[in-house]
Amino acid sequence: MALKIWLDGKLVDEADAKISVFDHGLLYGDGVFEGIRVYNREIFELDAHIKRLYESAKSIRLDIPMSKSELISATKKTTEENGVINGYIRLVVTRGTGTLGLNPFVCESSRIIIIADNIQLYPEELYEKGMKVISATTVRNHPLAIPPQVKSLNYLNNILAKIEALDNNVPEAIMYNHEGYVAEATGDNVFIVRNGVIYTPPVEAGSLEGITRSVVMKLARKENMTVVEKNLTRVDLYICDEFFLTGTAAEVIGVVEIDGRVIGDGKPGPITKLLRKNFFAYAHGKEK
Ligand code: PMP
Repeated sequence: MALKIWLDGKLVDEADAKISVFDHGLLYGDGVFEGIRVYNREIFELDAHIKRLYESAKSIRLDIPMSKSELISATKKTTEENGVINGYIRLVVTRGTGTLGLNPFVCESSRIIIIADNIQLYPEELYEKGMKVISATTVRNHPLAIPPQVKSLNYLNNILAKIEALDNNVPEAIMYNHEGYVAEATGDNVFIVRNGVIYTPPVEAGSLEGITRSVVMKLARKENMTVVEKNLTRVDLYICDEFFLTGTAAEVIGVVEIDGRVIGDGKPGPITKLLRKNFFAYAHGKEK
């Protein structure tokens, strides 16, 4: 069924949802976005995603010509009109139509796109068995280059690492920062468990401040587990007891091998499984 897309203030047919070839979102990856889940018709952590979108936009001096509450209403309307019960929303703000030059300030108004659709998930088997990953040789963007905290439309850094993963027949790659510390996976945040303590790299190590990451940290602390934000090395990943990734699409997924080193007993560990279970319950409104 053809979708209804929100474009610049109204819902239009998918076939009519078009953007100029002069849009700087296309020409330069100049814009910001969010990926959001819908569980049982409820939009998951919508306020947090909207907040991050406006913060990303502010960081790159992009005006979103709509208030937060208007954007929230538009997101809900698009989700309802498309009858999405369990799915995925992509919110995109591009710099708008400009010229072939870099100057963002000559662009006409930024453009707002909302797509509410089904979601392509990892197969259930991958959650049961856990995934293998590799360390990417592509270094995560320096915070003074394209700041990893900004969810911009320029994902080439992550795409280059993703290509490395796919070339090695694994779905994900771990990216390290310019100092050699773990930053994040190409589309997920990183967690490990060692001696019963949960560790995750601080955002300053070069990651997006993941909304799933925040929820999982909260759920772990509710279970009286200790969660520490600390710089991690590649060896920390090699010798940990458990390893998992978090993200909007993946939720909580166990990692069982990195660079040929088996983690734990080669299966997702007990803390990973518990947090995945608790996350599922939280997302489906069974536990708040
Ligand atoms: N890091 C990157 C680079 C991402 O693109 C994402 C989102 N897919 C995440 C981490 C996870 O963030 P969130 O939990 O907010 O989806």
